[in-house]
Amino acid sequence: MTTSTAPVLLDAIDRPVTDENRPLLEMSHVEKYFGDLHVLKDINLKVTKGEVLVIIGPSGSGKSTLCRTINRLETIDSGTITIDGVPLPEEGKQLTKLRAEVGMVFQSFNLFSHKTILDNVTLAPRKVRGLSKAAAEKEAMELLARVGVDSQANKLPAQLSGGQQQRVAIARSLAMHPKVMLFDEPTSALDPEMINEVLDVMVDLAKQGMTMIVVTHEMGFARQAANRVVFMADGEILEDGTPEEFFTHTKTDRAKDFLSKIL
Ligand code: ADP
Ligand code: MG
Repeated sequence: MTTSTAPVLLDAIDRPVTDENRPLLEMSHVEKYFGDLHVLKDINLKVTKGEVLVIIGPSGSGKSTLCRTINRLETIDSGTITIDGVPLPEEGKQLTKLRAEVGMVFQSFNLFSHKTILDNVTLAPRKVRGLSKAAAEKEAMELLARVGVDSQANKLPAQLSGGQQQRVAIARSLAMHPKVMLFDEPTSALDPEMINEVLDVMVDLAKQGMTMIVVTHEMGFARQAANRVVFMADGEILEDGTPEEFFTHTKTDRAKDFLSKIL
């Protein structure tokens, strides 16, 4: 880790010249082990621009690991992952650039606890995108307004409710202008009354055309906002189809069993 505060400016990534319809994210034959545990088994997944993909499945099925491989928080053992046509590099400046294109929102918010809400949102745009303080703050206030927490800008995370903190986390991701947003169970740590305020922000994002991959057990969100539902169990994708196909014509016993327990 570098402690330098000099911006890691993001110049354009060299992209192969290909058609506009190529997937924004493509995982091909991805395999991942933790020691002897085979957590991702031949994962093949394409997500096109503007698509909202919901991933569901029992605990321990590899959903979080799958998300984490997409921005190299976890390495893979074989297969390929490309983002907008560019393979994920192992490390270095090119990885920093590609990571900036993938926003990630976690179950546990992960805000910097000693920084104000405004600083949480401006930090990466200043450091990585090289924005001036004024420009970063202007954009941050617009994003905080978009998720309905601009009045909290000068507070510390602990002074906000969980739902507000998660909305800040979404604004912070958006401040990097990601091409795709990953949400890993973004509402499962929230008190029930706060779940909808976060889901509403996510539905708005979906309507505005953001490409999203969302791990969630909120089936209402899946029915309302998803174009596609992927069902995972034991590291495998067992179903991949429209919400209509998945919910009304569930194919596998494993998914039927899962749905009977959560619906
Ligand atoms: P999910 O998000 O679907 O609950 P995870 O991706 O978190 O599943 O985990 C898949 C499996 O991998 C689980 O058996 C989990 O215990 C295991 N696992 C996850 N992270 C690690 C790790 N860093 N080291 C070892 N095993 C892990
Ligand atoms: Mg998980």
